Amino acid sequence: MLKRIVKNVVICYNIGMKEIFERFSISISDEKIEKFEKYYQLLVFYNSKFNITAITERQEVIVKHFVDSVLGVDRITGNKLIDIGSGGGFPALPIKIMKEDISLTMLEATGKKCEFLKTVAKELDLKDVNVINGRAEELAKDPDFREKFDCSTARAVARLNTLLEYTMPFVKVGGRLVAYKGDAKEEVIEAKNAIKALGGKIVEDYSYNLLDAKRQLISVEKISQTPSIYPRTNAMIRKKPL
Ligand code: SAM
Repeated sequence: MLKRIVKNVVICYNIGMKEIFERFSISISDEKIEKFEKYYQLLVFYNSKFNITAITERQEVIVKHFVDSVLGVDRITGNKLIDIGSGGGFPALPIKIMKEDISLTMLEATGKKCEFLKTVAKELDLKDVNVINGRAEELAKDPDFREKFDCSTARAVARLNTLLEYTMPFVKVGGRLVAYKGDAKEEVIEAKNAIKALGGKIVEDYSYNLLDAKRQLISVEKISQTPSIYPRTNAMIRKKPL
């Protein structure tokens, strides 16, 4: 039997999705497993039409996309969540599968990925899901979206200082950003100025291992309003990151 060591968790290649979740101490119903199975099928099918993810091997998708996304669920606060740069739906859709009662908005700059996100939400019968094709630094200026969310998530979108400028304007005072990162020790130091300027405070910095990857979940609480000058234009953000 083929085996792979994941920190202290052994993944065997012939075990089912439910068992993999359980090996990461995530208990999950058969009904939710069915939704993840369907999601996996849709991901593989649409990935052959347009690039959604570089990871398609089943066990790797389960661990690096599904489990990774679900590991942040307990850090999500409130009922209204916005995920920035959702791509193929991570971490937003696994969070929604696990916490069906949340109201989810996914913001994604690429139109084809938005079509995929809508298809998955429909096929999995997920309610109260809104997919927006746009850019964070533009939508955050819209009064219908600015400081209207209890929580924001983002994974693999930008370095932490830039990510904060994209996400914090969407979050209400008292809400939080949950940033899914790789090894981000340097980024956390680099983002000190951005955290202060945007009205944030790090409340948790949690490190873990997934297969061969070091991962970090950084939770930033919004303690004061984000000044209206933020986010700046994409050109300014790139030229002079906070
Ligand atoms: N979050 C997904 C994941 O972890 O698999 C996708 C990560 S992918 C590397 C980054 C995604 O963010 C891309 O789909 C890109 O189109 C989107 N993106 C990048 N900058 C953005 C912005 N300013 N506003 C909205 N979407 C953005």
